[in-house]
Amino acid sequence: MIRLELPEKTSAPLKILCLGSHSDDIEIGCGGTILRLLSGSRQLHIVWVVFATSGEREKEAFNSANQFLCRAKCKEIIVKNFRDGFFPFEGTQIKDFFEQLKGTSPELIFTHNRQDAHQDHRLLSELTWNTFRNHLILEYEIPKYDGDLGQPNLFVPLEQEIYETKVRYIMDAFASQRVKPWFDKETFFAVMRLRGMECAAASGYAEAFYCRKVLLRA
Ligand SMILES: [Zn+2]
Repeated sequence: MIRLELPEKTSAPLKILCLGSHSDDIEIGCGGTILRLLSGSRQLHIVWVVFATSGEREKEAFNSANQFLCRAKCKEIIVKNFRDGFFPFEGTQIKDFFEQLKGTSPELIFTHNRQDAHQDHRLLSELTWNTFRNHLILEYEIPKYDGDLGQPNLFVPLEQEIYETKVRYIMDAFASQRVKPWFDKETFFAVMRLRGMECAAASGYAEAFYCRKVLLRA
């Protein structure tokens, strides 16, 4: 299969906006793709926003974002304290905040899947599409008890070093989450292995996204 590529390198950095409801969502959903992008020669400007953190998880969110973005020349990490699990009921304030995010003028946006079973994730996805009307938006997936994995249609194959680094960073950064039965490296490897199989990745591993709208320059 031929591969679509991001635009040729230019002097201006590629502006990327990463949106995640909770402290570990961005890392789990698109951490490998971010590491992959940062391993290239292209300059990136990454704005990384976590909407609901508090206490120990806030510190973990900052540390993890800094770890994943350690190769980024230009980065901005924003952590908000919206109430975990209650996003639909705090919609007005969250929508107000999205209006501020318009100013970041991103070229590529990573957000939650529109059909995610978690209400916080769904609201962020809806507000992403509501706010950014002429942008490339990739929706990532988060494995969960509810069992909402679907059929993503855009794949990013990951080399072994990248997918192993992703999982190591996640397991190191989020000590508070390790008590959760699903939060272990096997879960993260399993999802990437399945997606790697589906896109015939050379390494066997990939991250996958829902791309609802893409323009092709023919
Ligand atoms: Zn989440």
